[in-house]
Amino acid sequence: MKLAFAEISQEQSHYSLSEVSWFPADELVCCQPVLAEFEVCKKTNKTVHLKGVVRFTALLACDRCGVPVESRIQEEFEYILTLEEQNNPEMSELECSTEDCNTLYLKDPVIDLDMIFREQVLLAVPVRTLCAEDCQGLCSVCGALLKNENCDCSTSSSNSPFAVLKRLRKA
Ligand SMILES: [Zn+2]
Ligand SMILES: [Zn+2]
Repeated sequence: MKLAFAEISQEQSHYSLSEVSWFPADELVCCQPVLAEFEVCKKTNKTVHLKGVVRFTALLACDRCGVPVESRIQEEFEYILTLEEQNNPEMSELECSTEDCNTLYLKDPVIDLDMIFREQVLLAVPVRTLCAEDCQGLCSVCGALLKNENCDCSTSSSNSPFAVLKRLRKA
């Protein structure tokens, strides 16, 4: 969805996106409907304030054992979108006060909401996913899921979680 500056009023307007084709489904498996909402208002003819949130539940693989974990994710965002030149002194008055707010300098008076929402989703994915804090991962010898199975190699020293680290360090 694209939103032209001309369509945006000076009063705050609230939207819910029902169309979510922008969701990066090739990178994330989503197991519940994606919720995306935003508010926009025009500050000047060249500057728009955009604030929104995206919520979804993704299936992320545990970093240690690879088992899919349902992760509920919510990402809020806030932007000032402007056609003004960067370094324009007037801009400092328009910039929002919160730290999380970013200024985007646009070439055309059109907001590419699909791009913005997709970016929020990718930003929101946690760097590390674990199915459980104490997940022991896979046996480094036979590949068994240590949570569910006790393999015969579980007593051998190579089964220590550090064995994997050692191998990584050598590589
Ligand atoms: Zn795990
Ligand atoms: Zn094993």
